[in-house]
Amino acid sequence: MSVTVGAVEHSVDVLRARLLADRPERVALYAGVQINGAPHVGTNVMQTAAFLLAQAARERFGVAVVVRFGALDNTAFDKRVCATTGTLYERSYHHALGPDRIAELTKRYYGALFDALSEATGVPYEVETYTRQQRGVRFREEFLESLARRERLRWILAPSHGNVPVSFPCPRCGWLQKYGEDTELLEADATGARFVARCLDHGRYEAEARPGNATFVGLTTLHRNLVKERVAARDEALPVIVKGADWAGGCRLVDEAFLDYPESIPPPRVFTPVVLSASGAKLSKTLIQEGTAQLSAGTEPWMLDTTAWPGPGSDYARMLHGLVTLMLSDPRHFERGYTTRELAALIEQHGLRGERHGLRGGAGA
Ligand SMILES: [Zn+2]
Repeated sequence: MSVTVGAVEHSVDVLRARLLADRPERVALYAGVQINGAPHVGTNVMQTAAFLLAQAARERFGVAVVVRFGALDNTAFDKRVCATTGTLYERSYHHALGPDRIAELTKRYYGALFDALSEATGVPYEVETYTRQQRGVRFREEFLESLARRERLRWILAPSHGNVPVSFPCPRCGWLQKYGEDTELLEADATGARFVARCLDHGRYEAEARPGNATFVGLTTLHRNLVKERVAARDEALPVIVKGADWAGGCRLVDEAFLDYPESIPPPRVFTPVVLSASGAKLSKTLIQEGTAQLSAGTEPWMLDTTAWPGPGSDYARMLHGLVTLMLSDPRHFERGYTTRELAALIEQHGLRGERHGLRGGAGA
């Protein structure tokens, strides 16, 4: 449980100081969307919390709100290892499937749920892929700015070895070197950066990233989040970053990186409950795929793969809305983690599965 439970009446109150200082007309809550397979319940809890936190911010502070989801189409779709050097190569969902199938996947896994939650909370939402984000002029400017500061940022973004690789897909096949062993920065300034990289099949190639050009820029997780948040901070809406509580340590490093920029204030953050397997490990795609999630008797198949929910999607949206409303009813319930067994017990105790718990307005029905 977080120590902040004693400091707030509602978990969204952590935004109050920034709202009073900045007086923004609009708040944009940023959350992520995984597209590498069907979501598990933990991902949906975080996303539902984004909608409900936005609604609470609107009601408590009288600001306009929007939820912006970033779809991580840069996630690895397949992997290869070079037999001689052991170098890891990856091809992203974007490069393997293309934008149309990415849009289809996002809609299949999240479309109905987001529409139902948006209707129930009156909070509008937007979905943007990483591919689109990184192409934006502001993203390129902030990426180049991060390169200019690389000597300081590298020890914050990679505390153990100071190596922060930037990856560029091979222009012929779309594969990239995950850890950029053979990627080298040739030159960089505020107008652009030139790199050389190596493909397993096609050898050496050059890549140039400029504001306005089409080169795909692959960044490590912390670096990518820093650049995305720097871009969000330039928007007229106050950015609020919503992430699972497992991100607390990572966000501390992103905050530290922010402080390296002159007169720069990191965005406010709200951490959402993490769903854990019986062993205490966070539910994750990797754990589930490895079959090592150590699931207790209370775990139901839909918790690991939400497309297995036995019933209409509108009931699933209603259940999640009820469950996260319950969590947000007291900071002690929101600022903690839940095992799958506890989730099952809560759903049972509060009758969240059936018809009794209705969304206002009957969203998704
Ligand atoms: Zn290639």
